Amino acid sequence: MADKYEQVIELAKRRGFLWNSFELYGGTAGFYDYGPLGAMLKRRVENIWRDIFVINEGYYEIEAPTIGIEDIFIASGHVGGFSDPLTECQKCNEAFRADHLVKDIMDNPDTLSADELTDVINKNSVKCPECGGKLGKVYEFNLMFKTSIGPGGKRAGYLRPETAQGMFVDFPRLVKFYRDRLPFGATQIGKAYRNEISPRQGVIRLREFTQAEAEIFIDPRDKTHPGFREIGDIILNLYSREGQDAGESTRMQIKEAVEKGIIAHEFLGYCLARTYQFLVRVGVSPDKLRFRQHMSDEMAHYAADCWDAEIESERFGWVEVVGIADRTDYDLKAHAKQSETELTVYIPYDKPKKVERFIVKPNMGILGPKFKGKAGKIASALKALKPQELAGDVIRLEIDGEPITIEKDTVTYESVSEEVHGETIIPHVIEPSFGIDRITYSLLEHSYYEEEAKEEGEDEETRIVLRLPPEVAPVQAAVLPLLTREELIKPANEIVKNLRKAGILVSFDDSGTIGRRYRRNDEIGTPYSITVDYDTLKDGTVTIRDRDTMKQVRAAMSGIAENIYDMIYRGKSFEDAGKKV
Ligand code: AMP
Repeated sequence: MADKYEQVIELAKRRGFLWNSFELYGGTAGFYDYGPLGAMLKRRVENIWRDIFVINEGYYEIEAPTIGIEDIFIASGHVGGFSDPLTECQKCNEAFRADHLVKDIMDNPDTLSADELTDVINKNSVKCPECGGKLGKVYEFNLMFKTSIGPGGKRAGYLRPETAQGMFVDFPRLVKFYRDRLPFGATQIGKAYRNEISPRQGVIRLREFTQAEAEIFIDPRDKTHPGFREIGDIILNLYSREGQDAGESTRMQIKEAVEKGIIAHEFLGYCLARTYQFLVRVGVSPDKLRFRQHMSDEMAHYAADCWDAEIESERFGWVEVVGIADRTDYDLKAHAKQSETELTVYIPYDKPKKVERFIVKPNMGILGPKFKGKAGKIASALKALKPQELAGDVIRLEIDGEPITIEKDTVTYESVSEEVHGETIIPHVIEPSFGIDRITYSLLEHSYYEEEAKEEGEDEETRIVLRLPPEVAPVQAAVLPLLTREELIKPANEIVKNLRKAGILVSFDDSGTIGRRYRRNDEIGTPYSITVDYDTLKDGTVTIRDRDTMKQVRAAMSGIAENIYDMIYRGKSFEDAGKKV
């Protein structure tokens, strides 16, 4: 029997959600096209993300190029270290992720070096899964697609492997846009490219995929969040480091997890809550969702804490769909070094602070003639001295590796009291990073049901239904004249027109029995079907049918668009839609 993945993909292909790219030419692994319904579904998912992160959090969206220059990816570490271990079969030349091949032999194979993986493969006589041939030496394969910018191939460019770098590179402009106030965030929804070694997991591992990322720049001294009280009671399924050691996850309120230090701080807890709300709103089942903390050896060395939102899928098990990390000041420091530009924020104090400052004044009249070319460097070193370093009889310095002794009367020094109005800091970055394709597939799988159903003159048969949340369903309403008769088609067209005016994507379907038309719409997740019949002509009412319960109510034709809109977007109940006819 086909598993859930096959069932979902079969439906997705047949009804125009998604299919392998380049099918006409035989296809290539790691690329998928979204068809008419899939592209709309994905757009709706992205728009809910926008609603939460851009509109409600105020993290404006930017759009940077999908090709980046080499400097960016040297700074980010992608040129040096964004690779997976690759081994090739010596017989059939097929390529494999070496860490994937040994995952049943040992825990955390992704922490091993290429040489260590070669050892494990040899010692355990791991063979090519395709042909049984001998596997070659493991080496690191960089996952970025490389290209060149301009003619002649002189300037290297890369297709971006993540959208995040756009926000870091634009930091100086963004700081000005946000008028030097922390925290602020910027987001990007767009394509990312990774030349995955052997993507065999369908839509889960793609070579071109869509990310939605927020980079939130915060004051490192204050990792609280003003909205934390509103979300603190939310219960999450947490799979913490300790939980993973014990092999069990725990359901816990976010505020308790922060209090106990399981989640590093409020800001991160807040991002986990928003991620949870987003995933559930788009249609992920809460009981198939958990937050897994990175183990210490899995987390990047600079990160303070990192959690993945994982969704359970029947075929692939727990799949990472979102990564949420406190990246500290790593990215800004790396770009500051590479670009030789300060990437900081000046934070004014509420009230100026009085500080004691120690000032050393070198006497250049003595230093210049005595030390000539070195005098400048010596003067700088003297200015940097602390009071205790001036306590001895003479001053000892080291300039360019050479020890130098200076007489005390070469400098004067004093402590002065100064008013300081603020300070310059490097912000820390909190990054929630979403994989939109994995989420879109997951919600298709979680909303897919096959059930025995009997309805309006239909023989008992299996009904396939996508229980998508109404605001995510690609087609939001279907208008069905009971018969293909002019007198019914006319009011049906009128309804279509009014729904479209209200921004509702509507389909008109007048072919086949009404039962078949309901089924066609159930399969693509259309939440409401509106049937026009002879009563419509008599009393101006139509039937609205609810996809999930198959219940029907009569409602007035006038005001139908508002009625449907309120159910999709404003939480109006189906029963209420049928009142006041
Ligand atoms: P990362 O930058 O690796 O933490 O990825 C961030 C998010 O992008 C992940 O949580 C995934 O949802 C998504 N993602 C990463 N790699 C792929 C891929 N090859 N195909 C599809 N989605 C991906």
